[in-house]
Amino acid sequence: MAKDKRPKLAVWKFASCDGCQLSLLDCEDELLEIAGAINIAYFPEASRNYQKGPYDISLVEGSITTPHDAARIQKVRRQSKYLITIGACATAGGIQSLRNFADVRDFMRIVYPSPEMIETLAKSTPIADHIFVDYELRGCPISKYQLLEVISAYLNDRKPNIPHYSVCMECKRKGNTCVMVANGIPCLGPVTQAGCGALCPAYNRGCFGCFGPKESPNTVSLADRFLQLGTHTEDIIRLFRTYNAYAEPFRKESEARER
Ligand code: SF4
Ligand code: SF4
Repeated sequence: MAKDKRPKLAVWKFASCDGCQLSLLDCEDELLEIAGAINIAYFPEASRNYQKGPYDISLVEGSITTPHDAARIQKVRRQSKYLITIGACATAGGIQSLRNFADVRDFMRIVYPSPEMIETLAKSTPIADHIFVDYELRGCPISKYQLLEVISAYLNDRKPNIPHYSVCMECKRKGNTCVMVANGIPCLGPVTQAGCGALCPAYNRGCFGCFGPKESPNTVSLADRFLQLGTHTEDIIRLFRTYNAYAEPFRKESEARER
C-alpha cells in the first residue's frame, strides 16, 4: 500500500469545554478539503482511529490544571513539529483560571465532599507557561475561519494572517452603532483582539473580551472611562475576569482595581 504523504495532524484536549475542538468539526464544508490535504491522525473527539506520532501539526485545547497534565503536555511537545494552542483556556488559562485569584483549597472544600481525593494544581495556566508554543490562536471559542487560516498557513510554510488589532476596528467596518458612545454600555472592544466580527455590539451588547487582549491594550484608560460611565469598580473587575482573566493585561488591570 502506498505511504500516506499528507502531513499528520493531532488534536489534544486538556482542561476545557471542547468548544474549540467543535470549531474544527464545525468546518463542515471545508472538512473534506482539510481531510484531503492533511491526515487527521489523532482526534479522539472525532474518531477512535488513532495513529501513532510523531505529528506535523498538533492543535492543543485547554489549560494545565493537574500534575498529570503538566507531564502530559511535555510528551505532546516531543511528538509535535508545530504546536498550536487554540482558545482562551490554552492561551490564557481559561475561565478556570479564576481559581488563581483565590485559594484553590477553599473551592475544593466547598465543591467536593471528599476534597482529599482531588489532585490539582494551585493555578490554571496556559500551555505556553509549560512548553514552547509555535502559535497561539485566541477566542472562546476560536473562529473556524481563523483556524482554517492557521492550518493553511502551516501547510504552505507561511505566517498566519491573523489580525492583532481591536474588536472596535471590526465593529466600525461593520457599521455598528457604538454601544459605549451611544448607550453608555461598558465594552471591552477597544482592548480586545479582533476575530469574532464584533458579534456582541451587533446585538447591542458590550464585548466581554473572549478573544483576549489586543496588541498593546490601554486597559487603564478604558477602565477609567467605565468609571466615568458610572460602572462600579466590582463590575469593572468582573468584566476583566471572564474567559481571559489570567491574560496579563486583563489580570493586571483587575488586580490594580481590586487594590
Ligand atoms: S461598540 Fe464596543 S467594539 Fe464597537 S466601537 Fe464601540 S467600544 Fe468598540
Ligand atoms: S464582541 Fe467580544 S465578547 Fe463578543 S464574541 Fe466578540 S470578542 Fe467575544
